[in-house]
Amino acid sequence: METIVDSLLAEPISRRNEGMETEPRMFETDVHVDRTLACKDCGSDFVFTADEQLFFSKKQFLNDPKCCKACSRARKGGTAKAFTETKTTCAVCEQVTSVPFLPRQGRPVLCRSCFEK
Ligand SMILES: [Zn+2]
Ligand SMILES: [Zn+2]
Repeated sequence: METIVDSLLAEPISRRNEGMETEPRMFETDVHVDRTLACKDCGSDFVFTADEQLFFSKKQFLNDPKCCKACSRARKGGTAKAFTETKTTCAVCEQVTSVPFLPRQGRPVLCRSCFEK
């Protein structure tokens, strides 16, 4: 009789322990759910997906993305273009031209028409 009582008592205790172990794990996965954020640039809502949140936490980015994908892409493209578009003087015809890269010192820069010759 005693052994039956023991096994009956043992079962709920072990179940309770399992529950305590799985609870924090479930909470951890619950952190990564799709979230809707407002874009700071265009003001429209965009989805910060669970996958992206996982990517962010892996990269140890602490802040949420501030812009939607379209805006951040436009922003990146805009700054990259502004940075690389450099005004310089053509080494052949000496006309002022802009090149889509940063000219290195001592390296002759040609304008488009001279470059194509
Ligand atoms: Zn936007
Ligand atoms: Zn030229």
